[in-house]
Amino acid sequence: MAAGIIESPWISDATRQFLSRRARLLIGNKWVEAAQGGSFWVKDPASGEDLVEVAEATAEDVDRAVRAAEKAFQGRWSRLSPAERARLLWKLADLIEEHAQEFSEIESINTGKPITETMLADVPLTVEHFRYFAGWVTKLTGETLPVSQPGHYLAYTRREPLGVVGAIVPWNFPLMIASWKIAPALACGNTVVVKPSEVTPLSLLRLGELALEAGFPPGVLNIVPGYGATAGKALVAHPGVEKISFTGSTRVGREIMISAADRFTRVTLELGGKSPNIMLPDADPDAVVAGAMMGIFFNQGEVCCAGSRLFVPRSQFDHVVDLVGRRAESIQQGIGLDPATEMGPLVSEGQMNRVMQYIDSGRREGASLVTGGSRNQAAGSGYFIQPTVFVGQDEMTIAREEIFGPVLVALPYDDVDEAVRRANATPYGLAAAVWTEDVRQGIKVAEKLKAGTVWINGYNLLDATSPWGGFKASGIGREMGQYALQHYTEVKSTWINLG
Ligand code: NAD
Repeated sequence: MAAGIIESPWISDATRQFLSRRARLLIGNKWVEAAQGGSFWVKDPASGEDLVEVAEATAEDVDRAVRAAEKAFQGRWSRLSPAERARLLWKLADLIEEHAQEFSEIESINTGKPITETMLADVPLTVEHFRYFAGWVTKLTGETLPVSQPGHYLAYTRREPLGVVGAIVPWNFPLMIASWKIAPALACGNTVVVKPSEVTPLSLLRLGELALEAGFPPGVLNIVPGYGATAGKALVAHPGVEKISFTGSTRVGREIMISAADRFTRVTLELGGKSPNIMLPDADPDAVVAGAMMGIFFNQGEVCCAGSRLFVPRSQFDHVVDLVGRRAESIQQGIGLDPATEMGPLVSEGQMNRVMQYIDSGRREGASLVTGGSRNQAAGSGYFIQPTVFVGQDEMTIAREEIFGPVLVALPYDDVDEAVRRANATPYGLAAAVWTEDVRQGIKVAEKLKAGTVWINGYNLLDATSPWGGFKASGIGREMGQYALQHYTEVKSTWINLG
């Protein structure tokens, strides 16, 4: 284990113990070694040191996991009453809450993000997600239908589970995004094989331990850490998997959709974004600046809905950009476990290099650097990048492509219709925000924005009840809220001839 982590004054004994346990695969309620005996190292992003060695699932393990999930689906899981299923989900939520400190530490250590964020967002939102869907288990009703065929019929619908769901999860909110998939899938009566990101499998392995403690029958929840090109691909292609719920890059999402077409495997895809954060002329500049910070620097900017394009009226542009730059410079960077840290390192060396390449492209293409733009080695030997603000133009790479890091591009505009048109001129459509004192004007702009979620005078607001997903290349389907239920059930129409 990385020396810095072992000696850290902020880590609890429970987390230390977890990190020293052998990290294996969870298949059929048993912790098992990988069939081919392989493993990979998870790194501490704050130092770059090796942290935990994790057994590496390959196609053979995925197959074992899918078979275990199929068996559970046809067996004990399908015989549990909805009330019993709901109680298990609720119990898991209680256990996560009981271990909130440990989960917050594990997530912060593995991803690099500040513990203040894991305690306020990742962990409580995961708990509430399980509770929200536990509530739905006993409310998954169908309808009786007033059919008009001659004769006398009783026609009704039922919502039936799909079978085995494959869940593929990214590294930016490993526990929370996995809960967006596991909770509704299980609530609807499916079983699950989840493949965490190879970069951040730890919190899900701890979740697996608690699922055993909660008493889920064998095979209901299986966890197979491994690489996308091997374990991920094998899960998507497996004939026993009825649905893939994927969160990750648009590139991989497209590949998954193509592969899923072979067998008409159902898919939900939550993909990338390049979200606009729009200040209207009457907005309060202080609120906009706070919203811009939250939009781009929360979670080091490694957020699918990051507000990476800040549109500001030209008449106020210099003033607002100056405020944004100064606030960005005041952000305290450090290791995630330090309670004073406001921004941690990026998750991996690869991600850090990718973000630095975008920063270099900004410089090369003539964007003007307001602040940041370099690695921050004063914050630690790991993957730290300074909060970075550019003034740019729409055609620049940094204003078009998803950077997935702490890099903001400020863009001036002259009138609101122009701002909306430019905000929508992207292949993505995940989220957007509008800042104004005139809510009516805010609503009118929100109606014109092509995005799955629009915030008026806020940013990064998420809740289990509020559907989440993208327009255009940001994805297909919705997670969260009752809309998620449609993606984890098939609707069956049944007709009874009453003669
Ligand atoms: P990624 O697409 O590289 O990987 C995501 C997951 O897919 C990982 O578990 C990976 O191992 C797996 N994977 C990779 N190749 C695969 C393949 N060929 N077949 C099956 N699985 C494969 O994405 P990432 O770098 O982990 O995450 C960052 C991306 O995720 C960003 O683009 C971000 O916008 C997106 N994201 C979207 C949302 C959302 O809700 N829309 C949320 C978080 C992240």
